[in-house]
Amino acid sequence: MFSYHSPATVAETVGLLASLENSMLLAGGQSLMPMLNMRYAQPDHVIDLNHVDGLDHISEDADWFEIGAMTRQRDVEFSREIKRRCPLLAEAIPLVGHRQTRNRGTVGGSLSHSDPAAEISTVCAATDAVFRIQGPNGERDIPAAEFFLGFMTTAMELDEILLSIRIPDWESGHGYAFQEFARRHGDFAIVSAAALLTVGADGRITKASLAVGGAGPAPLRIAETEARLVGQPGSPECFEAAAEACREIEAIGDVHAPADYRRQLAVVLARRAIETAWSRASG
Ligand SMILES: Cc1cc2nc3c(=O)[nH]c(=O)nc-3n(C[C@H](O)[C@H](O)[C@H](O)COP(=O)(O)OP(=O)(O)OC[C@H]3O[C@@H](n4cnc5c(N)ncnc54)[C@H](O)[C@@H]3O)c2cc1C
Repeated sequence: MFSYHSPATVAETVGLLASLENSMLLAGGQSLMPMLNMRYAQPDHVIDLNHVDGLDHISEDADWFEIGAMTRQRDVEFSREIKRRCPLLAEAIPLVGHRQTRNRGTVGGSLSHSDPAAEISTVCAATDAVFRIQGPNGERDIPAAEFFLGFMTTAMELDEILLSIRIPDWESGHGYAFQEFARRHGDFAIVSAAALLTVGADGRITKASLAVGGAGPAPLRIAETEARLVGQPGSPECFEAAAEACREIEAIGDVHAPADYRRQLAVVLARRAIETAWSRASG
């Protein structure tokens, strides 16, 4: 049994979080409701974010765009701004669950739930997104590299709420690709890879980002792969050598796949993502 609360403002929500012991926020309910059903989560209070003002928006600035925490995944899927400014996210979002779950599921809910295989989390790791949080002491920003702490664990405190994420722009004309392997369409990925590349006028890679989801307890940036790409002219040998760095990932093994299999998937998906990003960057 829990009490239900329906605040109208962020300030009211933060006040409730501070005053109510053992409370949980409800966004789209696509992860929380199953957790309640299975008694995996047993809150005394559920605080519904669906009527809180100001959390559902996609807005733009010169160098970044912002997605409010309560923005539905389906709205991201159809956003022209996002297709233009972050095609990587546009490519990843249709892989998040099913049309029905994306109609209700929110960007903030997915990121706060922090499943290591969640596509939106992997995109945020690749793009160096910044997370805006509010708690009893006001607002603070957390970079993606510090937000995901481990399996379903983030840097947010229990009395804090995720307000929005900001995704900084990559140079126009950059290459991107999101690749994943899931047992069935709509399932969480066993492993995924998100790549971003910028290629200079001389054909050499000037900037690279590779994030792998589902392999470890949180999305991972593979710095060694990025270092092996920057300064290189694109070639199958270079892509293969860069992707091979994923072999060193400290992968998790579970009922879905052993660690060795996840490492192998990471190498293959990283190579495919880099190749596709390269071909898109080179026109
Ligand atoms: C059949 C099915 C398939 C799915 N497949 C995938 C998949 O392939 N990939 C994938 O990524 N996801 C998948 N999901 C999960 C889905 O994306 C969820 O929408 C998402 O994980 C949670 O978002 P939500 O808005 O529903 O949040 P909720 O379920 O309402 O909340 C999830 C958690 O986040 C917390 N929370 C929510 N909003 C905030 C906030 N603003 N600040 C702080 N904490 C907050 C809640 O307290 C709760 O702990 C699937 C779900 C289902 C049911």
